Amino acid sequence: MDDKLMLMIPGPTPVPEQVLSAMAKHPIGHRSGDFGKIVAEVTQNLKWLHQTQNDVLILAASGTGAMEAGIINFLSPGDRVLVGTNGKFGERWAEVTDAYGLQTERLSVDWGKPLDPEAFRQRLESDTDKQIKAVIVTHSETSTGVINDLKTISSYVKAHGALMMADTVTSLGATSVPVDEWSLDVVASGSQKGYMIPPGLGFVAVSAKAWEAYKTAKLPRYYLDLGKYRKSSAKDTTPFTPAINLFYAMQAALRMMKAEGLENIFARHERLRQAARAAVKALNMPLYAADECGSPAITAVMPNGVDAEQIRSVMRKRFDIALAGGQDHLKGKIFRIGHLGFVSDRDLLTAIAALEATLQELGYDSFTPGAGIAAAAKVISNS
Ligand SMILES: *Cc1c(COP(=O)(O)O)cnc(C)c1O
Repeated sequence: MDDKLMLMIPGPTPVPEQVLSAMAKHPIGHRSGDFGKIVAEVTQNLKWLHQTQNDVLILAASGTGAMEAGIINFLSPGDRVLVGTNGKFGERWAEVTDAYGLQTERLSVDWGKPLDPEAFRQRLESDTDKQIKAVIVTHSETSTGVINDLKTISSYVKAHGALMMADTVTSLGATSVPVDEWSLDVVASGSQKGYMIPPGLGFVAVSAKAWEAYKTAKLPRYYLDLGKYRKSSAKDTTPFTPAINLFYAMQAALRMMKAEGLENIFARHERLRQAARAAVKALNMPLYAADECGSPAITAVMPNGVDAEQIRSVMRKRFDIALAGGQDHLKGKIFRIGHLGFVSDRDLLTAIAALEATLQELGYDSFTPGAGIAAAAKVISNS
């Protein structure tokens, strides 16, 4: 059916009507006082969302652009960087550090498992002459649906003195990321995930410690020179032409988030996480990530005896629900349910009901019809 598409993928995520209509206006001049007011408001609200007093800078870029900016502004060629890799995004940041001629040291675990904080502690403690200048961790590893223990890893990084750089693209706005309390130096995210805005904006939060490193950092930078964004931000403006209509969207979305409140936003995502996991278990399908490390934004499922791509195809064709597939070697092996951003209890119940119907259509009979919905409804009604 036309116009019925429901996005249950981890980005782009659904966009609320209020946000869509806020965007449907002429762009105004970005050097005008009116635009300055929008910059001031959204910057304040971004700090609220990041739970920080640090600068939060806004780029016309996707999440990768924000992350690349976060890496290149604070390092010099040849610097050693420790990168946690347990999925597609962790590996991407190692590719970025390789591309810029940094000495990349990967701390890897298998996909589907969380990074081991102890391995970070040991490696950092053994680095007595402080060769390691930065540690990069993906908080919520979207490719596998695993949440990493950023808080603990960051405490070891702080003790060592290196910069803590975090990809919080699918954790910010889904679970608490207290940037100041956890001493995160560089924190990157993108608009099409927890923010409930279309793709096109990237965000980077930068600590005072990172700005110290900026002064001597020698990697080349121009459009992504965060110093320019910081200077402009102090004057409620941007160094280059911003994505003006996305600023309208962001203004509306952040107002909605403030009205809901941080605690309620996090509780809703936790409920969706638990409901999705309970439903999948009731369907007798293995979860790709263990309960202790399941992401609040995304649930990865490894269907037994049914092709994951077939499930996605029926969900899309019969029910207009888009699920995400597996990436790289996980293609065809897993599917991923996104429950991030503008997603309600009703959306999840709908997706589970459609999933049950899909599985029946595909001849998968290892579950009692209705069991998935009952399990999800139980979580939702008890919380
Ligand atoms: C989506 C995502 C990104 C950013 O990807 P872009 O396509 O560049 O926006 C980065 N990290 C994680 C964990 C993501 O889920």
